[in-house]
Amino acid sequence: MTRLVNDPVEFSAELVDGFIQANTRYVRPVYGGVVRSTETKPGKVAIVTGGGLGHYPGFMGWVGPGLVDGAVTGKVFASPAASQVHSVAKAADHGGGILLAYLNYAGDMLQFGMAGELLKADGFDVRNAAVTDDVASAPVEETDKRRGIAGGLAVLKVTSAAAEAGMTLDQVTAVCQRANDRTRTCGIAFSGCTLPGADEPLFEVTEGKMAVGLGVHGEPGIYETDLGTADDVAQLLVDTLMNEVPQGAGTRVVAMLNGLGSAKYEELFVTFTSVTSKLRDAGLDVVDGQVGEFMTSLDMGGLSLTLMWLDDDLETLWFAPCDSAAYSRPALQDPPLDASVTFNTEPEPLTVQQEGSASSRAAAALIADALERVRDVLNANESMLGDLDAVAGDGDHGAGMARGSTAAAQAARELVAEGAGAQTTLAGAGARWTEHSGGASGALWGAALTAAGNSLGDDRDVDNAAAVAAVQAFVDSVITLGKANVGDKTIVDALVPFTQAFGTAVESSGDVSQAWQTAAAASEEAAAGTEALVPRMGRARVLGERSVGSPDPGAVSFAMAAKAAGVATD
Ligand code: ADP
Ligand code: MG
Repeated sequence: MTRLVNDPVEFSAELVDGFIQANTRYVRPVYGGVVRSTETKPGKVAIVTGGGLGHYPGFMGWVGPGLVDGAVTGKVFASPAASQVHSVAKAADHGGGILLAYLNYAGDMLQFGMAGELLKADGFDVRNAAVTDDVASAPVEETDKRRGIAGGLAVLKVTSAAAEAGMTLDQVTAVCQRANDRTRTCGIAFSGCTLPGADEPLFEVTEGKMAVGLGVHGEPGIYETDLGTADDVAQLLVDTLMNEVPQGAGTRVVAMLNGLGSAKYEELFVTFTSVTSKLRDAGLDVVDGQVGEFMTSLDMGGLSLTLMWLDDDLETLWFAPCDSAAYSRPALQDPPLDASVTFNTEPEPLTVQQEGSASSRAAAALIADALERVRDVLNANESMLGDLDAVAGDGDHGAGMARGSTAAAQAARELVAEGAGAQTTLAGAGARWTEHSGGASGALWGAALTAAGNSLGDDRDVDNAAAVAAVQAFVDSVITLGKANVGDKTIVDALVPFTQAFGTAVESSGDVSQAWQTAAAASEEAAAGTEALVPRMGRARVLGERSVGSPDPGAVSFAMAAKAAGVATD
């Protein structure tokens, strides 16, 4: 849906105006579109592009040094008029001739073609070139019937660099044609786009399906198929383009994954992981990757993959510096790091430096058992804890606790098998909890487990006093790190009663397991009691009042974990 609209009739003019106001560093208005607002070398070939609006950053986003000289702005999904192309080209001219380069659509071909004639009549040296990268729009024997889509940026980038390098109009035109011959795009859509002021999308894609071979003007795909995973989508795109390898193209490619309007960058990056590995499997060398929005179609859901097969000259032109509102490539100042420089991409492995004492190893084994029970209860309650966190927080508490406790239990089990004592086991479990959980609770649980471990040591007897001290160290570290007090509606409200009850019960009964049960019951009651409180710490503070009537998720999960930890398996 296109929501922010004044008068739909004025939408096109208003969007161009807003773009110009935001980008005076790059563009100045001229009748029909925009031209560079910076000085350009006299005698340079001028590259003029353009088309309908609704495709930002295509086309006005690319006006600037090293890229195009002028962009003609039509109306949303409507090609500009020949008179507008004529006006923009005249303003963009620097005396070196003009290349009109645009995407292959009937309207654009006619208008830019007519403008070429007008410019020639004025005495300009003019060439016309159309980008035809869309493999779905016509068979390979009829390449000249193919539409131009996101590959337009790749073609314009190298063409503009050729002009910037001082090539003649004929040379620049030849680069444009060679780049176009070596550029292929395949796109898919999950949902259509809506014109400003319209209530309905131009087309719809069946839920769970994808339309393969869409056009960027809301043309539906050529066929529908099941959507599948990001990996499946990558496979389809790569397979389609690998059927289309240009003759004598070599193996070096630029790969551009383009979001069509409402695909998220996160989704694009996930897909790009699959794309690059499949391209490598297909024997290609991905010299450069580009992920983002390069040619959109209003709010269309979907993406396209473009490959431009490089030769030596195209590679130099591709990496040449450029600067524009939407696409920049800085001149490289620093050389790339030597290939011999490597970084750890995995966390430090957990190791047992020194075997624990028998007593400490026995305690570590009990801790590993307890962490597995904690893992089970937190995983079983993941969605309930998530719902509690969604009341005033971000809804991730269940997922974070499940991930954290799962990783912690596994780490503890492995360390125990290697002869770790209590300290090493808890430190390893804490480290993995924090790494896998993320969020406030992950940091607190990791620090608290580590602190409890430090208190127990690897070679001391784990007696009643040591257990009480370890629990105290756990709570102290949460308070020191999180700075919450009792009553702030956090985990501390369940922790403090637990610690107090545990200390008292151990002292009176001398039975640690019994005392743990008593403490867990006190903690559960205190956690439930947090529902009356207004949060004063953490994410929930912002929407404080909303959480009254619902207990604190971190307090509830602690009580739940404490209870499970205390229930022995035998
Ligand atoms: P995030 O808030 O980063 O999304 P979680 O949702 O996993 O993290 O955990 C939220 C819980 O963390 C809260 O319910 C609260 O119990 C606890 N918490 C947040 N901040 C603090 C703090 N400063 N001190 C103690 N506990 C806190
Ligand atoms: Mg949260």
